Amino acid sequence: MITVLTRSIAEAAEFIRSGGIVAFPTETVYGLGADVFNADAVAKIFEAKKRPADNPLIAHVSERGQIDMLARDVSVDANRLIEAFFPGPLTLVVPKTSRVPMIATAGLETIGVRMPSAKLAREFLKACGTPVAAPSANLSGRPSPTTWQAVLEDLDGRIDCILQGEATDHGLESTVVDCTVTPPAILRLGSLSIEALRSVVPEIGIHRQDAAIAPRSPGLRYKHYAPNARVVLVDSPSEIGADTGSAYIGLTEPVGEFAETMVCGSVEDYAHTVFAFFRKCDKAGIDTIYCQMVSESGIGAALMDRLRRAASH
Ligand code: AMP
Ligand code: MG
Repeated sequence: MITVLTRSIAEAAEFIRSGGIVAFPTETVYGLGADVFNADAVAKIFEAKKRPADNPLIAHVSERGQIDMLARDVSVDANRLIEAFFPGPLTLVVPKTSRVPMIATAGLETIGVRMPSAKLAREFLKACGTPVAAPSANLSGRPSPTTWQAVLEDLDGRIDCILQGEATDHGLESTVVDCTVTPPAILRLGSLSIEALRSVVPEIGIHRQDAAIAPRSPGLRYKHYAPNARVVLVDSPSEIGADTGSAYIGLTEPVGEFAETMVCGSVEDYAHTVFAFFRKCDKAGIDTIYCQMVSESGIGAALMDRLRRAASH
């Protein structure tokens, strides 16, 4: 398969309308989309990404009206979150309609729904004329792609088209909130902070994965976000002796020389660059990446979640 690279929304959307799969930029990371109501097209996403079949996809909408095609019995709290944060980096898990094929939700009776805020994503989704199922546009297990070049690196020849846009704004995935329980519970930390969510629904909890019971968000069980290099978390770069086979990313300037160094001006910057930095280190054949830990407030909580996952593999 030849992967078409384009900046034309109309050309990219035509692939979706004819049952193909297209990578497109959102404010979080690049997604790999298919018409959510076309089971054959959705199957192609799992194949291209080598995504386990039990990991459900998020459905992306361009307008509120499309939510009714996907979801039923949307709770009062879910509606408050929609009112406050759509469009934005938030995914709400709600009961699905029978129109959504089971393959999209990996057999679950619920569906994750999100309305992206990035301009290009919104225009693309509108041109598709249907809600678009889209996980991140990487090979399963690899760091999520924040540039079209990163998508190409993983999926060239495996997907129909890449809609080329800028590097994404946030760099971390959406926050996933389960709205089928009361109070709602965060399944995956992400670009929308807990503090922001709690300013609208103060009782929101965080779902803690219990290995003994079936995971509520199947995707959380898999290896994620990991570079090939070993990831080591440190409080401060003064703990590490610099060496030329290693890389460092953090907020504090290190003393010695590393093969790759990234000093970020803020936690937001750090979240924005971390996946691209992991990919750069892999290309350079780095064997260890030292990552400075950050305080777990705001986007820092989601960043620490991703760093811990990357470090545990
Ligand atoms: P990705 O789009 O690759 O970043 O992954 C989507 C994440 O959302 C995964 O962690 C999924 O497990 C989670 N997710 C999507 N749909 C549902 C759902 N219906 N119920 C629970 N979690 C979901
Ligand atoms: Mg993903």
